[in-house]
Amino acid sequence: MEVLDVNYRWNGSLSARSKTDAIVLHHRAGNGDVLSIHNGHIKNGWVGIGYHFYVRKDGSIYRGRPIDKMGAHAEGHNNHTIGICFEGNFENEEMSKEQFEAGRELINHIEECYGKRLAVYRHSDLMATACPGKNFPFDEMTKVSKDELVTRMHRDGVISRENVRNWELFLSGKVKTPYKYIRTIIERYQKLND
Ligand SMILES: [Zn+2]
Repeated sequence: MEVLDVNYRWNGSLSARSKTDAIVLHHRAGNGDVLSIHNGHIKNGWVGIGYHFYVRKDGSIYRGRPIDKMGAHAEGHNNHTIGICFEGNFENEEMSKEQFEAGRELINHIEECYGKRLAVYRHSDLMATACPGKNFPFDEMTKVSKDELVTRMHRDGVISRENVRNWELFLSGKVKTPYKYIRTIIERYQKLND
C-alpha cells in the first residue's frame, strides 16, 4: 500500500496528539484533489488540511496532517482520533471497488502502525451529521475478513502454516470438505477480537 506524500505549506504550527484509540471516517461530500481540501481548510482559518488521510475514488491515498499530530475533523474527538476522508458524496453515490479496498488497507495499515486494533467510527457516530453518507460501506469496510484473520492468526502464532495452506485450498474451492477445525478457531479468534 502506498501513501502519497504532499508538501503542504502549513498556516501555523501543528500540535502533537498524546493519545490514539480510534479512527473516524468521513466523506468529502464532493470531489477534487487533496490540495483543494487543504486550501479550503486554510480558508476556514485552520492550520491546513484537517484530515490525516485522503482516499480518492481511484484508490490513491494521500497523506494529510502527520499521523501523530492533532487533526481537525471531529469536534471534541480530535485529541484521540485519526481522520480519514473519502472523496465523493455517499449520500447519493456508491463507492468504487478501488476506493473501498484502499480504505480497508489503510485502516489495517494504521492499526499495524500502532500495533493494536483501534475503534472505527463514522463521523455521524460522534455528532449529528450525515457524514460519511448513508451509502458508505461502513460494515463491510470495518469487518475484518476471514482470510485476513487467518493471516493475522498465523503471524500471531495462533495457527500453523499448514492450517493457512488448508484454508487457502478451501477458499480456492480445490478442497470440498470444509475445514471445521479452522473455522472453529477463526470464530473463536473473532469473538476474542470483537
Ligand atoms: Zn465528517
